[in-house]
Amino acid sequence: MIINLNSEIKAVCFDLDGTLVEECYPNAQIDRRYLAGNFILNLLSNMIQANGYERAEELLLEYLDINIYWDYSDIIKHFKLDEKLALLWLRLWHKKNLIVMQRNVDLAYELHQAGYGIYVISNNPHLGCLLKMERAGLAGETGKGIVEGVFGSNFGLGQKMQRSFWTRVLDDIPCAPHRLAMVGDNPLEDAEVPMSVGVGQCFLVKADGCLTEVGQPV
Ligand SMILES: [Mg+2]
Repeated sequence: MIINLNSEIKAVCFDLDGTLVEECYPNAQIDRRYLAGNFILNLLSNMIQANGYERAEELLLEYLDINIYWDYSDIIKHFKLDEKLALLWLRLWHKKNLIVMQRNVDLAYELHQAGYGIYVISNNPHLGCLLKMERAGLAGETGKGIVEGVFGSNFGLGQKMQRSFWTRVLDDIPCAPHRLAMVGDNPLEDAEVPMSVGVGQCFLVKADGCLTEVGQPV
């Protein structure tokens, strides 16, 4: 196994972007040239416009302002988009633009097989998490159902950089925080903040793709 877990650890949480999947080229999804900086919102805005709405961008931005913890699926419903078609476009985008970080996906399967609980914790909204998990082979037709819980931005009501996000998520994992390990690529969001709320061990993806354990704060 490519990580050494303490004997207390019972479950391992994985980040998505930069951990289980990465973009084929930088800023494929999050870039200022897209609506609200997000390619997927841009794509949905185009679909909203094609659905006969005038001022689609403006309406979508208004919707996001009011519904802070939105998910892509909420937008699809609210603007009465063809769900199958929207998902088809979203899946195609994920297939074309994301690369699977196979070492870490294999680690998730290996840990599951060894009896550890597997969770996904991400700044993506829930549907965004599922699409990336499907791309990684951890959900959908290609996944084998090893993930016990998925906690995105609209579940944790925020982002991983916030302690409040982590406390909400940890409340819903049936395992004490010190028995959880986190694997991610962001030193603040995937190590410093989760360790500050009691997560037992954190591992970071380094530039060479290897995982290294982060020391506990003194
Ligand atoms: Mg990440």
